[in-house]
Amino acid sequence: MDEIRLSVSGATSVITFKASPEDLTGKLQGKNVIVVTDENIFPLYRDLLQNIPVVVIPAGEQEKNLDRAKYLYQELLKHQADRSTWLVGFGGGVITDLTGFVSSTFMRGMNLMFVPTTLLAMVDAAIGGKNGVNLGEYKNMIGTFRQPEQVFVAPDFLQTLPPEELVSGLAEVIKYGLIHDPVILDMLNGKGVETLFSENALLEKLIIRSIRSKVEVVEQDESDHGLRRILNFGHTFGHAVERTHHLSHGEAVSIGMCVAMEWSVLKRMLEPEILKLACKMLDRFGLIPVISPDPDTIIGVMGKDKKIRDGKWVYILLEGPGDPVIRNIDPGEYLAFLHELRNNGFYERIHGKS
Ligand code: ADP
Ligand code: ZN
Repeated sequence: MDEIRLSVSGATSVITFKASPEDLTGKLQGKNVIVVTDENIFPLYRDLLQNIPVVVIPAGEQEKNLDRAKYLYQELLKHQADRSTWLVGFGGGVITDLTGFVSSTFMRGMNLMFVPTTLLAMVDAAIGGKNGVNLGEYKNMIGTFRQPEQVFVAPDFLQTLPPEELVSGLAEVIKYGLIHDPVILDMLNGKGVETLFSENALLEKLIIRSIRSKVEVVEQDESDHGLRRILNFGHTFGHAVERTHHLSHGEAVSIGMCVAMEWSVLKRMLEPEILKLACKMLDRFGLIPVISPDPDTIIGVMGKDKKIRDGKWVYILLEGPGDPVIRNIDPGEYLAFLHELRNNGFYERIHGKS
């Protein structure tokens, strides 16, 4: 097993990597723990959790709400949890976001461990200390910053993950390649979905490079006010089409990254060749469905994103692989740009159609 440490403002997360699922039992031993997981994951890993108190909740993004948080507080009381109890979020991003929030607010803070079981959670949601629940249509509107003391990453958990969930998580991996670690792009060059499932060693290397990327960015800026915003690359537009077109998070972010790269090309910051290569790679993994988003609707939804609600439209552009730039943009100019994309066949082009 390897360890990566993430240290920010006095808090340290110990990220255990290359663990196997069976090592989890040892990790939990001797601790007073309560595991929270979802109804899909629990039956698959019941054996790992024998004799451990487990709270099982329904699966899905709609569970990330204050009612579910309240239910978990009540379960914690029932199990006589106190501040020395370890809350263990065992699952994907929904579970880590929800348990992260509950752990930081129950009695003003209890111990927290994440056991991510999706690619997205391993490389993103479980790392970096942001948690939250949705408030109606507003995503992650209520939340805190709270680094988990422990993160237990066992890539073998991905073997039971539905393929489309694995591919969706890959969009974040490619994002790290574009904004921080271009070696990731080299590693994925020429590869397709099949290799992702057959080459375990490749997947492990991608996970560890992605975790390192996120750790390096978050260690420089834990908050949302500085460098950390580069992690939002592709996400403001992405969140909007995720909502309006019912895309997976990975598909939405992938199209969002292509749009951000196209804007970067128009601003003469990025070589068109990089845009082409990156979108081709995303498309090879099936992450670019053809959509035709209505510019006004998109702008309306983007305006509700909490990252731009404070009046400034912050947008992450790219000067080259590993070279992101944080810029304020003019919503009017962006609206015209979105009209242009729709009219000139951009969304078909990135899908490789023309
Ligand atoms: P994300 O990490 O993408 O935010 P979720 O927490 O919503 O995702 O999990 C995605 C779906 O995959 C959920 O239905 C969840 O129950 C299921 N799931 C998560 N991890 C596994 C796993 N290792 N094996 C099988 N299903 C899983
Ligand atoms: Zn994301």
